[in-house]
Amino acid sequence: MKTADVQKLYQAFVLPTYTQVPVCLVKGKGSRVWDLEGREYLDFFPGWGVSALGHCHPAVVNALKHQARTMLHIPNNFFNIKQAELASRISEESFPARVFFCNSGAEANEGAIKFAKRYGTDTGRYEIITMKRSFHGRTLAAMRATGQDKFHEGFQPLMEKFLHADFNDLDSVKALVTPKTIAVMLEPIQGEGGIHVAKPGFMEGLRKLCDERDMLLILDEVQTGMGRTGKMFAYQHYHGIEPDVMTLSKALGGGMPIGAFVVNRRIKKEVLTAGMHGSTFGGSPLACAASLAVFKTIRKDGLLAHTVRMGELLSAGFDKLMDKYPVIEESRGMALMAALKLKEASAPYAQEARDQGLLINATQGDVLRVLPALTVSVKEVRKALGILDRVFEKLSGKKEDCSCSTH
Ligand SMILES: *Cc1c(COP(=O)(O)O)cnc(C)c1O
Repeated sequence: MKTADVQKLYQAFVLPTYTQVPVCLVKGKGSRVWDLEGREYLDFFPGWGVSALGHCHPAVVNALKHQARTMLHIPNNFFNIKQAELASRISEESFPARVFFCNSGAEANEGAIKFAKRYGTDTGRYEIITMKRSFHGRTLAAMRATGQDKFHEGFQPLMEKFLHADFNDLDSVKALVTPKTIAVMLEPIQGEGGIHVAKPGFMEGLRKLCDERDMLLILDEVQTGMGRTGKMFAYQHYHGIEPDVMTLSKALGGGMPIGAFVVNRRIKKEVLTAGMHGSTFGGSPLACAASLAVFKTIRKDGLLAHTVRMGELLSAGFDKLMDKYPVIEESRGMALMAALKLKEASAPYAQEARDQGLLINATQGDVLRVLPALTVSVKEVRKALGILDRVFEKLSGKKEDCSCSTH
């Protein structure tokens, strides 16, 4: 089979919901992937951040092999050792907590939203404030929470009741609070929105506002969690801030589908009890074994410190590119969650980078985003920067017509 044959099968049998590039990936190792024709790429956007230990990390693969030989699935009306261990590990790495497991980021956010609605039910509160430019997933409530109109188009009537405030503007949040508000939900760093970091004053203000009004602070760490920003979870960069509910997915399973919402024990009320929420596959032993291997590897290999160092190298390189190419307006992000904002469309740059063997992402029309594996090496960061330099050299100043689109 050739890529063109796979493409034909897609055209005939797969719903065309994704903007795709004509590349069929078949193999990965660390930060490198290969396509069906044997071409190698340096992957600086591994699965939207899913493969944070790089592709096929041996610790994850071995955990999966071992678990696959023992038990693939355990229904949630029985105890499952791996799920118990993973819940305890997440709590140990974050705050005293109890965890619900599901299979994706959207589902984790759905669960957090259900939790909030149930939390507010005695006081008749159900409104949730989220941020403009946010992204929380594609299921009905997660899509509704997402603060970008393009995701809502044609899906009206939308679910009640979500209100969108301006990110990093505490007054805009306060202006939307009503006696019916139950929660504020946000990403500590907006990912799909183009990499915008929440300011400390904003986070502190939100925590205080939520405390004063008995509202829940829900942090969507689906993209920022698991070491991406140089701490295990991004909220840990903010002094004295803990969420009431935190959602995780993407890198949580090291490539396996898993999601979770993590409820802080500071919430004394028993909000969800038997029968109120569930998932057939949630917290499967296979996904949990993979996730435990991810946590162990991050700690054992000192990947948080490494992520900070690689992030510094990357942002120093981005700054140099910015000095050299006026088309770059801004370099932003935290550790290995970084972006360049351009003064023109970013998609042609992502396409040219791919032609030159580097996978990156174009989002929000004019942003180039990278989420390299936390295991990325100095050599690989230098190589990626070298490729980007050639890409900017070739394209900047030129305005070419490109039919490729973003995200
Ligand atoms: C990717 C993402 C989601 C959705 O995750 P899925 O697994 O695709 O449902 C939700 N929130 C954030 C912040 C994300 O980056």
